[in-house]
Amino acid sequence: MRPIGVFGGTFDPVHYGHLRTAFEMLQALKFGEVRFVPCGDPPHRGETWASARERFEMVRVAAEGQGGFVVDDRELRRDGPSYTVDTLVELRKEFSDRSLGLILGMDAFLGLPRWHRWEEILGVAHIVVAHRPGWRAPDMGPLGELLNEFGTHRVQDLHDETHGRIHIHAVTQLEISSTEIRELVEAGRDPRFLMPDAVRDVIARTSCYGKLDDRL
Ligand code: ATP
Repeated sequence: MRPIGVFGGTFDPVHYGHLRTAFEMLQALKFGEVRFVPCGDPPHRGETWASARERFEMVRVAAEGQGGFVVDDRELRRDGPSYTVDTLVELRKEFSDRSLGLILGMDAFLGLPRWHRWEEILGVAHIVVAHRPGWRAPDMGPLGELLNEFGTHRVQDLHDETHGRIHIHAVTQLEISSTEIRELVEAGRDPRFLMPDAVRDVIARTSCYGKLDDRL
């Protein structure tokens, strides 16, 4: 049984930076699936722009037709703030002997010590960190120590053990962010080619970031 990659995020909106990262992880790390888990109520950030349903719908259409991409709505169904650790504990119960790998961009990894019960994560899952442009792996502090102790360069370790390792993996650097996309649309510009057309269609249909002029 191959590992399950767990890719959480606000996905406000999902874009090719996310999708390419997930796809490269699926292939290079030989994961059985990458499970996108859009968060319901993000505890570390203010309000989202698009609603939870709209964000879920964008991820759903983005993943459609790609073998190995799964979209999981458990954080939308759960009341209260979405904590990644709760999701991982739930998945661990569902897939008791399967390897789980939480996929994080380097920026998200650096913020990990601010997450709710973050020390428990390695007790249920591996952490797989995707390099993002402009970010460096920590070599000091709690994350530097964690990397020293649990870091591994061997992909096989993520298969042989079900949790407890940290693996940093370089992915194609796509300097795309959801923030930039929202600002683009707000400014009346078109986000085409930063995301699948099906995601752009949801943005156009719902006007969740402002009106898109379809004549452009
Ligand atoms: P925002 O600009 O609103 O902060 P974002 O583009 O970083 O959003 P999130 O939904 O917050 O998107 O990110 C979910 C996960 O995807 C995080 O772990 C983040 O590090 C990672 N990620 C986001 N953009 C990229 C990218 N271009 N390349 C690789 N990983 C990314």
